[in-house]
Amino acid sequence: MIEDLDDLQKKAEDEIGAAGTESEFLAIRTRYLGRKGLLTGVLRNVGQVEPEKRPLFGKRCNEIKEALSEKIEKALERIADLEKEEIFLRDRIDVTLPGRKIKYGRSHPISQVCREICHIFAGFGFAVVEGPEVELDYYNFEALNIPKNHPARDMQDTFYIEDNIVLRTHTSPVQIRTMEKQRPPVRILSPGRVYRPDSDISHTPMFHQIEGLLVDRGITFGDLKGVLTSFVSQMFGADISLRFRPSFFPFTEPSAEVDMQCVMCRGEGCRVCSHSGWLEILGSGMVDPEVFKNVGYDPEEFTGFAFGLGLERIAMLKYGISDIRLFFENNMRFLEQF
Ligand SMILES: [Zn+2]
Repeated sequence: MIEDLDDLQKKAEDEIGAAGTESEFLAIRTRYLGRKGLLTGVLRNVGQVEPEKRPLFGKRCNEIKEALSEKIEKALERIADLEKEEIFLRDRIDVTLPGRKIKYGRSHPISQVCREICHIFAGFGFAVVEGPEVELDYYNFEALNIPKNHPARDMQDTFYIEDNIVLRTHTSPVQIRTMEKQRPPVRILSPGRVYRPDSDISHTPMFHQIEGLLVDRGITFGDLKGVLTSFVSQMFGADISLRFRPSFFPFTEPSAEVDMQCVMCRGEGCRVCSHSGWLEILGSGMVDPEVFKNVGYDPEEFTGFAFGLGLERIAMLKYGISDIRLFFENNMRFLEQF
């Protein structure tokens, strides 16, 4: 029986020597050392061995079992090491390769223009104030001297949420909300989104306005002209002249449309300015006394001016863009130019 054990060990060791893969080693382990394995089977037959030889037989069996286990474990470890090394070689990082470029984001041209305008007016002491985009009819119209059924409402097509709630058609409601809370002097700039149901090459249903308001004692139209002239020269260049044309807005009296000399042709006349040499850039005027009464200011004591301009319009003029819709198409090749 002991001789059988030697043969068994030799056979197993030969097989281990010939095996190469993990599954082959595992199969050998099962074949010899598993619950139904050959060595386990021999041990189970220990009863057939002569009693005096049994201790020696048992000892020999255990030695073989340990020796085979150890050989197989070592082989499996070696295989695992090799695999690790292979993975390491395959996934090795080549530090000499050039890096991947990170694409930087950038501000939208409308945001850039907005920031620039706010910055210029900050220099005149204007603070930035924001207000709700879903607005009460009262703030959007009535308090600004545009009562219900007033023909001036036709100037501004409106998205209605409910009878008395609208998507604001201009940023002017922020004037009212500010003056209700604050006594003069008031010097504010309110940028933001506004909404009108319009869509073509120069209109989008949502666009951006900036509204300015200055109220104090003794403010005149001369102050309005001075502030706007200084603003335009900082925004577009020092030698651009302005022209004030009489106009009508319900919340200012007198009112004026402001044109600046065409930035493309410097007044010579070109396609952009329809050969007039002038570009309309904003609406403005002295705050109507009715508006002051609505917020509890005494029009005999205080005067002020207001103006509003479209950010898209300014950005189009500044960058020479001919279609307003480009701002909202999110075409990266367009946006990356700014
Ligand atoms: Zn021109």
